[in-house]
Amino acid sequence: MLHEKLAAEIPQLKRGMVWCRICGQSQRVNATEALACGWPKCCGYTMTIDSPEERAALQGESHE
Ligand SMILES: [Zn+2]
Repeated sequence: MLHEKLAAEIPQLKRGMVWCRICGQSQRVNATEALACGWPKCCGYTMTIDSPEERAALQGESHE
């Protein structure tokens, strides 16, 4: 099953947490279930598997 493989191989999915980019709310998620049934949304947007710290680090890199 592809979803289970993905959830097992991607560390951010395995951690089982998602964050809202808009309001910063975090929520636990079953990645396998979410991939199959629909990803959680908040503030009208799909929630991200990257933590705020990781997003800040990524943004810092891309703007350098
Ligand atoms: Zn939100």
